[in-house]
Amino acid sequence: MIESVEQGNKTMNDLIIKAAKDLAGAKSVAALTGAGISVESGIPPFRGKGGIWETIDPMEYAHINAFMENPEKVWNVLLRGLKEIIEQAKPNDAHKGLAKLEKLGILKTIITQNIDGLHQRAGNTDVIEFHGNFAWHRCLDCNKRCETLKIDLKEIPPRCECGGILRPEFVFFGEAIPSYSLMRSQEVASECDIMLVVGTSAIVQPAAFMPMIAKESGAKIIEVNPEKTPLTGRISDYLLMGKAGQIINKLTTEVEKLLEVPS
Ligand code: NAD
Ligand code: ZN
Repeated sequence: MIESVEQGNKTMNDLIIKAAKDLAGAKSVAALTGAGISVESGIPPFRGKGGIWETIDPMEYAHINAFMENPEKVWNVLLRGLKEIIEQAKPNDAHKGLAKLEKLGILKTIITQNIDGLHQRAGNTDVIEFHGNFAWHRCLDCNKRCETLKIDLKEIPPRCECGGILRPEFVFFGEAIPSYSLMRSQEVASECDIMLVVGTSAIVQPAAFMPMIAKESGAKIIEVNPEKTPLTGRISDYLLMGKAGQIINKLTTEVEKLLEVPS
């Protein structure tokens, strides 16, 4: 049965300590992260309060057909703003905490739905970018890659030297997940003994399926989210309710205490 503070049977601190004990004793921990983990870095999520979809229709702007039909419109409404926001963002306490858990030898792999590169910047070394990344673009005509930081937005849509239009290396709606990422994620999910599920609405498939694979393979699922999700109460063993930065920070401190890491 799911344990959460809402049930009134545990205080949040008790639950965090319990989760920390599980983590400290685990052999192989994986994390699945979503847009929520980057909210405290200033990057809005898609769904929910303050989400990008409160103002724009995803099918109009985040679908591959929309991009192919009118790249100028998608660049102006979605990609231009995303580039500015991501370039200014820095890893927050949640990204840093997960990097610390890797250094402590606890966390092995992160499967992220995010395209912002903040896990790698925080120091995690095994990050599966399930939906690709925004760090690179490639030319629709000659396939040449170009670093997003070097793209000049004077011309929209931006173009390659050959004149072809540049597209981000992330997965638009309507596109398939790269088979390597999908296969590795399934492998990681089936082999971990704990999966931390942080800041994801667990709605976008097939990413949301990874906690199910983990659970079916015998793993414990620890969710961190200020809201309930479709996993809560069905798949998750605990819901640590709150903002990712604060919760992961406390969780990491507790793990360090258990492992007697000098502060
Ligand atoms: P989502 O937008 O569907 O859901 C965000 C989740 O984060 C919600 O469950 C919400 O309750 C939770 N949340 C909000 N603030 C939080 C906080 N401070 N701490 C912890 N959790 C918090 O995100 P999703 O499930 O990742 O799926 C949407 C898709 O959008 C992803 O696949 C991703 O590719 C893309 N996306 C990526 C970014 C990014 O790279 N940072 C940003 C927006 C969308
Ligand atoms: Zn080109």
